[in-house]
Amino acid sequence: MKSRHLPHPDLVLFNGKIRTFAADGSTCEALACAGGRIVATGTSDDIRRLAGPDTQSVDLKGRTTIPGLTDTHVHLSEKGTAEMELVDCRDFYTGVHSISDIVERLARRAAESPKGSWIVAHGSPMQDFRLQDKRFPNSHDLDRALPDHLVSVSFGAHITIGNTLALAAAKITRDTPDPAGGHITRDPQTGEPTGELHERAQLILKKVAPDFNYLQLKDGIVFALNQCLERGVTTVHDIVRYAEPVRAYQELYKEGRMHARVSILPRVIESMIESKSLIELGLITGFGNDWLRIGGVKMSIDGGITGRNACFYDPYEDDEHNHGIIRIQQDELDETVRKCHEAGLRCCVHAIGDRAFDMALDAYENAVQKSPRKDHRHRIEHMGNWLSTQERMDRMVRSGIIAIPNIAIGYYVGDAILDCVGEKRLTKAFPFRTLLKNGVIIAGGSDSPGYWPVDPLRDIAACVSRKMRWGDVWVPEERISVSEAFAMHTTTAAYVGFEENDKGTLEVGKLADIAVLAEDPFEIQPERIKDLKVEMTLVGGEVKYQA
Ligand SMILES: [Zn+2]
Repeated sequence: MKSRHLPHPDLVLFNGKIRTFAADGSTCEALACAGGRIVATGTSDDIRRLAGPDTQSVDLKGRTTIPGLTDTHVHLSEKGTAEMELVDCRDFYTGVHSISDIVERLARRAAESPKGSWIVAHGSPMQDFRLQDKRFPNSHDLDRALPDHLVSVSFGAHITIGNTLALAAAKITRDTPDPAGGHITRDPQTGEPTGELHERAQLILKKVAPDFNYLQLKDGIVFALNQCLERGVTTVHDIVRYAEPVRAYQELYKEGRMHARVSILPRVIESMIESKSLIELGLITGFGNDWLRIGGVKMSIDGGITGRNACFYDPYEDDEHNHGIIRIQQDELDETVRKCHEAGLRCCVHAIGDRAFDMALDAYENAVQKSPRKDHRHRIEHMGNWLSTQERMDRMVRSGIIAIPNIAIGYYVGDAILDCVGEKRLTKAFPFRTLLKNGVIIAGGSDSPGYWPVDPLRDIAACVSRKMRWGDVWVPEERISVSEAFAMHTTTAAYVGFEENDKGTLEVGKLADIAVLAEDPFEIQPERIKDLKVEMTLVGGEVKYQA
């Protein structure tokens, strides 16, 4: 038995198959927690003997128990309220298969909402391809079931559909010109708007639709964090763009309503937060406590892939004039990265296309050469999804840059990405075996919620089985083992959070962040790991979720 000499523990877990994820690969039957940390591990008999009259005892009944999981890239505070409030028409979350399924869900909400009020819903990106109807609903589809409400349904970030009353409220008519950077779809016969608004045209509708208030923002964060716990997630790295979520997190912590841990990554360009303010305040990575801390700063070089805005050297397959967009020029990127690097702020640079990868690597090499600093742990968000050439991998390793790939993107929309990026650039999609072999550090981030749920077990299953939601077993030679895939959400993720002394394994001295699973993920078919039930999640030695 390994233990610290302390009074009675607060909690003992016994009779389990506790996979510690320690470097020696050990398992144990039982562990004890006190003050939020693990104070002893060993056999059930040894650990139960430590229990005093006030100790809570949990019989694991032989179930497999693992360290709490981490998702290193989420937009949780930004999307949490929508998760809670909006009518859910997303096929990646629900059983929606057709326009009539969507309309039925909207009508159900309308039945409990006063006439003349707004019904706001969200669908999934590119859902038109997957709906039985092979198209998005139009305003007439929505009007038929909801003639007395204003309806707005968004499908991903690029398309929103309004019904007739909503279009009228936004004053969108046949005479409304397309705004710059946006497009109002019109009936080719009549010239009337069909309800489908693209890109910046969505803003005309969104401006008149109701927005969430601060209390809803806070409730949404609580809701989304609790959903994380249901999948065994005890830590997330959350990207924030303005002050309210940061304030909300601090208040929720004080109010005792934060049940999972958060590292915040303030976005500093195209954001309400400037790197200058953080640097002037003297904040460095790690500021905060075990529940809430600053994990670094985020910036985005190019756009997203679903809107064909990720920036590649070669154009998109289906649009020979489109290479995507660059949002930060190289000199601004270099300067921002260097200043943050020198100030002790870890950088997380979003780069999806290969041109953006190289810009990110240039900026990091420039900063590291000018001001050598060990242990900066800078990251490239979405690196490791594709186009990880030998040269890029070598540069990553040489400068100590971490890759944060997102297998969830491949799992959900890999087929659509194959269409627009093309087979040739994706022959080595999600090359995790190759990345690990070359010594590139990789940790898992899902970019959820919103498009799909936070669920590392799903991502782990995809890393091991390579079975995608759309049917293919994609690049099976890049499979990694179950323990390598779990490392992306435990030990390596803890390192990425500068928290390897506190998280990632179930060892004496570590935080008691623990997930109890219905089955052993190491002993079932890899594909089934995604369906594994999480039966209990503990954070800091307290049961925060129980199935
Ligand atoms: Zn993201």
